[in-house]
Amino acid sequence: MVILKDNILIGILGGGQLAMMMVEMSAKLKHIEFIVVDPSDSPPASKVANCIKSEFDNKEVLDKLINECSLVTIDFENVPAETLKYLEKKIPVYPGSYAVSICQDRLKEKNLFNKSNVPTTPYEKVDSLEQLENAVNIIGRDSILKSRTLGYDGKNQQFIGKNKLDEIWNISGRKSSILEKKVNFKTEVSLIGINTHDGEKIFYPLVENFHNNGILNYSIAPYKNETLQKKAESFYINISNSLNYVGVLVIEFFIDSNDNLIANEMAPRVHNSGHWTNEGANINQFEAHISAISGKKVNEIKLSENSAMINILSKMPKNILSYDKSIKVYDYGKKERINRKIGHLSFISKDRKTLLKKVESIKKIIF
Ligand code: AMP
Repeated sequence: MVILKDNILIGILGGGQLAMMMVEMSAKLKHIEFIVVDPSDSPPASKVANCIKSEFDNKEVLDKLINECSLVTIDFENVPAETLKYLEKKIPVYPGSYAVSICQDRLKEKNLFNKSNVPTTPYEKVDSLEQLENAVNIIGRDSILKSRTLGYDGKNQQFIGKNKLDEIWNISGRKSSILEKKVNFKTEVSLIGINTHDGEKIFYPLVENFHNNGILNYSIAPYKNETLQKKAESFYINISNSLNYVGVLVIEFFIDSNDNLIANEMAPRVHNSGHWTNEGANINQFEAHISAISGKKVNEIKLSENSAMINILSKMPKNILSYDKSIKVYDYGKKERINRKIGHLSFISKDRKTLLKKVESIKKIIF
């Protein structure tokens, strides 16, 4: 465990907006500096921290992190597990390679949920057209084929429906996949939790998430339901304990019409559905993560208002600030591209109805 003393340098693998906000939003924590590794030219975090342009398997760069950093964390889950294994032989890496390797693979992730008595939608492993046909016979056609790895924002997912299975299998790129039953959900929520070195778990209230085409469009917090909050926390504790997890881990759930929680997936990092915590909570998820991995105490989470976070996708709107000055606009400085997350909006309100009304009017401008 790292005890915060003199200056410590934290290495972040991945320099996207999550790394950028880890640096910016934890600025009030003293004695912490950052160095970021990212293969792309001027990623968002390069504006706020020293950034090394490099692939994640460059041993020279990894050795530099080993020599200079006190610990390493990640801003996205697809850092090769081998890289994390290499680093963690020499310095602490949070989350560790085991936890990340589970979260990188939908099959391992769902198997872990089931082993931890956390309900999931029925699923089957698919490695061939024949296995896809068998899986569809078991699960039915109201189902989705998802690649086991590298799927995010609805990417690498095919709905089966009336489609021909050989065509779906070809379109999917014949990748190792799972077929999972489509959930007829009432809504979606996520639980953002902070895991300290001492095994303490500190939770934010559930946040309700609204997706379109697999991409998070907006989130509203808190999703107030004491029974579901307790249930989600008990599921979370089983899972994070079995991963020996330190730092922020996020689990996404469907809620069905009978108010059952069904785990969908998890993220071994700070998460888009937690951006509202910057304005809406006493401790934001980025500061919480950096504090937890550095061995600093994390206080109880408190919120006094309702929060909304709306993603800006594809194109930066020009008129949002003139629309309402109480909206905080985050611009990640990324090139505009269809369905790319290039920023977000965040605002709070004591009154939930007022908040939801504002969300509706902004949605009309943004989407
Ligand atoms: P994922 O990449 O698994 O997080 O999926 C992105 C989004 O697609 C989810 O948040 C849901 O809105 C939708 N989705 C994914 N899997 C399912 C499923 N089995 N049933 C219904 N909707 C799903």
